[in-house]
Amino acid sequence: MNLNTQILIAAVLGVAFGFLLIAYPQTAFVDYSLYGLGVLSSIFIGLLKMLLIPLIFSSIVVGVSNLQAGGQFGRVWKITALSCFTTTTLALILGISCAHLFDVGKGVDIQLFQAAMDNHQTPDTLTPSSFFTTFIQNTLINPFKAFSEGNVLAVVVFALFLGVALVKGGERFALVRNISQQFFDIMMMLVGWVMKLAPIGIFALLAKLIATEDLSVLSRLVEFAAVVTGTTIFHGVVVLPALLWIFGRMNPITFFRGARTALVTAFATSSSSATMPLSMKCAQENLGVRPQTAGFVIPLGTQLNMDGTALYEAAAALFIANLMGLDLSLTQQVIVCLTAMIASLGAPGIPSAGMVTMIMVLQSVGLPAEAIAILLPIDRVLDTVRTVVNVQGDMMISVVVDRYAKQAEAEAS
Ligand code: ASP
Repeated sequence: MNLNTQILIAAVLGVAFGFLLIAYPQTAFVDYSLYGLGVLSSIFIGLLKMLLIPLIFSSIVVGVSNLQAGGQFGRVWKITALSCFTTTTLALILGISCAHLFDVGKGVDIQLFQAAMDNHQTPDTLTPSSFFTTFIQNTLINPFKAFSEGNVLAVVVFALFLGVALVKGGERFALVRNISQQFFDIMMMLVGWVMKLAPIGIFALLAKLIATEDLSVLSRLVEFAAVVTGTTIFHGVVVLPALLWIFGRMNPITFFRGARTALVTAFATSSSSATMPLSMKCAQENLGVRPQTAGFVIPLGTQLNMDGTALYEAAAALFIANLMGLDLSLTQQVIVCLTAMIASLGAPGIPSAGMVTMIMVLQSVGLPAEAIAILLPIDRVLDTVRTVVNVQGDMMISVVVDRYAKQAEAEAS
């Protein structure tokens, strides 16, 4: 049985086992099972996290130096940025439109959530301008600190600088370039080993998620949850594949087949960062993306490109406004979209990161930050689907970018 099939079976069994645990609450069996599931999922996530920083670092250094060597850096950079911007904008428009279309939150009794909101402690104010300064302060820092703290964005920036320097130095730095390449190859080998554990990790993560989340809250917010999930799936199944078809000339079915290990892992972990090693492997080995393109686009996209998160934040802001009986003007909706775009750029690829940056989106149009208390109980469940779309977007963009880069190289030669 191949790994993909094992992962799909593990996902289904994980969900089923989660429901079995819900059926026997407060028994010793459940306690032991939850403990065991916790250990297994920590091992899997821990291994992925262990590889994350060295992998991101080496893949960007190697990716940039190879792109630069092929004279493709400017082109790849521009197409990557343009693709991220386009897909995120489409996601935002979709999120806002569907929230309007289904009038999410209208007619729901806000009193239901009053207690949660009253008890909620709002973190420090998060305005776009303060967010931006913090963003810079957290990004341009001592690289060793960034490595040890797992600060992905700062590592990305340092690796970009280093990659460009290696190319500028040419032959003088050939040794470091070779070492980086070998180091990267070793990391990918380790990813291959961790992937063998993916079925067990995914089984444990999903069973634990189902057994520990309070799914009954979901029913009170069912309409909103259904609209957001449906719209996110639409973006992932219709919008992104259409773009892939048009610009990447790849059959969406081929794409989903090649990408599914990473997509199921994204669903189970709710973390695009933890999934990144697998996204990179799938892009290179199953989707035919060349290592230099995947090595550049995937780590960057993991940090900066989050369509699912942007869509969710825009729709959720409208939901909260409707709950409060406020009609947001067109300008306010544009502000929501712009802030949601910044928020999705800044959100790290970890579970529920979008919830933290959501505060900024709410505050941008004067909605109370406490309102996230309404969304928090259902967030982990909704996070699964939006993370899948975040990861899918990164892999899709790597296919598109690689196609254009190859074309340019063919024309040049
Ligand atoms: N969990 C998401 C991700 O890792 C981020 C979010 O919370 O929206 O991509």
